[in-house]
Amino acid sequence: MTPLTPMDANETLLRMENVNIVFSSPDEADIEAVRQVDFTLTRGKTLALVGESGCGKSVTARAILRLLDKNARIDHGRILFSADGGEPTDIAALGSDSKAMRSIRGNRISMIFQEPMSSLSPVHTIGDQIDEMIMLHDDVEQKSARERTVELLDQVGIPGPRQRADSYPFQLSGGLRQRAMIAMALACKPDLLIADEPTTALDVTTQAQILDLLRALQAEYGMAMLFITHDLGVVAEIADEVAVMYLGDVVEQGNVFDVFRAPQHPYTRALMSSIPRMTRRAQRERLNPIQGNVPSPRNRPEGCAFTTRCPHAFAPCSSVHPGRTPAGEGHWARCHLLTHEDAPRVEGILQPGVPAIEGDRA
Ligand code: SF4
Repeated sequence: MTPLTPMDANETLLRMENVNIVFSSPDEADIEAVRQVDFTLTRGKTLALVGESGCGKSVTARAILRLLDKNARIDHGRILFSADGGEPTDIAALGSDSKAMRSIRGNRISMIFQEPMSSLSPVHTIGDQIDEMIMLHDDVEQKSARERTVELLDQVGIPGPRQRADSYPFQLSGGLRQRAMIAMALACKPDLLIADEPTTALDVTTQAQILDLLRALQAEYGMAMLFITHDLGVVAEIADEVAVMYLGDVVEQGNVFDVFRAPQHPYTRALMSSIPRMTRRAQRERLNPIQGNVPSPRNRPEGCAFTTRCPHAFAPCSSVHPGRTPAGEGHWARCHLLTHEDAPRVEGILQPGVPAIEGDRA
């Protein structure tokens, strides 16, 4: 495995290398929730993790912060993190409650959640909660912390920030609560912000405002962002790179423009054709929902995880797990259609003849 080199450390903040996450239970064999995940997060850029509920997006994000449930563990792989160009730290090898991990969590890497009420305390004002976060990480007194809190609330667009600091979360609208949550996540000027479905519970206007705000703050702070969503429309708005997940596997990854222009995995294509479009012709057509449901990880199909729902499945799909196949610069997909000599011809999908990425497990 390659270390983060000083040359790329100014840009590369975090690299997931072949990470597997399993859940254990006393009565059953371990369940693989995430398999062979590889991606890089770069300063000033956003990677979107996209997929249906239960595909492993949030588990992947929580692994980065070592906030997995007690019965989950990183079974394999490395999560290399370096904020200052120095020797990277392997987060996967740290204790979840170790001093080193606590200095990364909330300080170098912050997270915002879909529902702020689940992470804001209902019995403390938002000002007190943000003050506490600042004082926990910086050696400052409450008076200075409050000044910084008011600045942050102002920066995230909360009107009357000094007065609003004395509000309890239940006194704020959903949009203002989410802004307060973002202010708290930014309190320690993180290098990496993980946003887990931060706009899903909001109406479309507020959603657009929060996306604008995150983009502006990213430009100002130079943060990398890992953005988790099930909504490809949001991906197009906010991300530079996209990784599409299905049942714990990343099935396609690449630059947003390339993946949207020429999606290569049948699951990505199905997700895209299930998005409502505004053209007149599209309005007359029926939407194409993806048939069936995501199988339980307990009953993961042999071979390709998408085989039970794929309209193009053919002989090897139910027995051989496809490796990653390049589909352009920095763009790849896991699908036998791209490599197998007996693959049916599907319009828009590259024909066989491209070798799988070296070192990838099929
Ligand atoms: Fe469909 Fe087979 Fe490709 Fe899986 S490997 S997405 S089942 S064609």
